[in-house]
Amino acid sequence: MSSPFRVRFAPSPTGYLHVGGARTALFNWLLARRTGGKFILRIEDTDQARNTPEAMKAIFDGLRWLGLDWDEGPEVGGDHGPYFQSQRQSIYDAYFQKLVEAGRTYTEENGAVRFKFSRQPILIPDLVCGDVQFAATEEPDMTIRRPDGSYIFHFVNVVDDIEMRMTHVIRGEDHLSNTWKHIDLYHALGAEPPRFGHIPLLLNPSGSKMSKRDEGASIESYIQAGFLPQAVFNYLCLLGWTPKTETEKITQEQAVALFDVSDIHHSNARFDMTKCTWLNQQHLRDLSGAALIAHVRPWLEKDGLIIGDEGYAALALESVKEKVSMASEFTPWVHYFFREDFPIEDEVMAKLKANAQSPALLAALSAGLKQAASWDEAGITAAVTDVATEQKVKAGALMPLLRFSMSGQTRGPDVKIMIGILGKERALARIERLSNLL
Ligand code: GLU
Repeated sequence: MSSPFRVRFAPSPTGYLHVGGARTALFNWLLARRTGGKFILRIEDTDQARNTPEAMKAIFDGLRWLGLDWDEGPEVGGDHGPYFQSQRQSIYDAYFQKLVEAGRTYTEENGAVRFKFSRQPILIPDLVCGDVQFAATEEPDMTIRRPDGSYIFHFVNVVDDIEMRMTHVIRGEDHLSNTWKHIDLYHALGAEPPRFGHIPLLLNPSGSKMSKRDEGASIESYIQAGFLPQAVFNYLCLLGWTPKTETEKITQEQAVALFDVSDIHHSNARFDMTKCTWLNQQHLRDLSGAALIAHVRPWLEKDGLIIGDEGYAALALESVKEKVSMASEFTPWVHYFFREDFPIEDEVMAKLKANAQSPALLAALSAGLKQAASWDEAGITAAVTDVATEQKVKAGALMPLLRFSMSGQTRGPDVKIMIGILGKERALARIERLSNLL
C-alpha cells in the first residue's frame, strides 16, 4: 500500500462511550499508529435529539483517557472537515446530485428519494472475515433521502468515507450485512471502496450481545472505578486480538509495534471483568513514586487520609502495591501509615491479651529497637534478633507483635519494611501506644 493509511472511528453519540466502540476505535488507532497513517474521529450525529454536548464529551473524554488521540476531527481540526455529520449537509447535497445525474435515483410520491441498486453480485474482500460474497439483491431499492431533505445513514457514511479519503474501514460486524449497499454506492459515485474489516461482536459473559446496562459497558465506568487507562487499553486489545507476546500484559508501545489486522479473531470476543482487573493489577505494579501517588491519591483522600510527605507516601504505597488490584483497594492496606489514631482490630487485641508475655515482650522490643544500629532492614532485623535471644523466644514470635503495634491489624507489607518506612520515632511511639492499651 503506497498511500498512507487513513482510518476512522465514527461513533453516533449516545451519551456514553461503549466498550465495543472503544475497541473499534482502538483497533483503528493501532492500525494508524502501526503504519504511520492517520486516525480520524468523525461524529455521526444526524440524530439531532441525541446530539448534546454531554454526549460528545463522553466520547472525547473516553478516547483521551484511553490515550487514543485523533489526528483529525473535533477539537483538532483537519483538511477534510467539518467532522460532524450535522454540519455536512451541502457536501451530501453535492454527492446526491452526482447520483441524480448518473441516473441512479428516483423520487417517490411522498418526496423520498431512492437509490437504484445495481443488482449485481458484490464481493467484499474483508480483512477480518475473508471474502464475503453477496448475491445480486432482491431487496427493494434503498431510500437515501427523506422527504424533509435529510439523508439516511448508509448514504452519509459512504459520502464521508469518500470525502475524508478513508483507505480502510474497520468496524463492528453488525455493519457487515449492509456493506454491499455501501459498495454499490461507491461504484455509483465513481469512487473506489476502501478496504473493509469487520470485527466480531463483543458478548457479555453469558454469551448475549453486550448491552448498555452490562457491567463494564461504558468507558466512564472504568474511570469511575479507578482503573488504570493503560490496563483498560491492554484489556481492549485482547478483546478479539491475541498479540504475539509471552504475556497478555502489553504496553501501548508493544501493541502498536505488534498490531496486525489479519490477526483479529474471527470468533466473537467474550467480556471478562476478572481478566480486566487482573491486568490492572499487573500494570499497577509498574507504577512508583509520583505516578503511583497521583493514581491512588483521590481514593485515599476520599477515605479521609492525608498524604503529607510524598517521599514517605510513595514508599508506603509501593510496599503494598503488589497486594492489591485496584487504586480503590489501598486504604485498608496503608491507612496506618497516614494516621496515628488507627484502630486496633478486635482480633489483634484478643491475640495480644491471650499471651501473658505480650507486655514484657513489647517493652523489650521498645528497648531493643531504641538501640538499633541503623534504621533499615538489616539494622531492624539485628535488633529484633537480639531481643529474641535475650527473651528466649523465636524472632518469628516477635514479628506479629511488631506488626500489631505498627498497624493494629494483621495485613500489610513485610513488617521490617513497614517499620523502616514508618521511621524510628513513629515506630517507638506506636509500641508505647500498644503497651499502654494492654
Ligand atoms: N455511526 C456508526 C456506528 O456507530 C458507524 C458505522 C461505521 O463505522 O461505518 O455504528
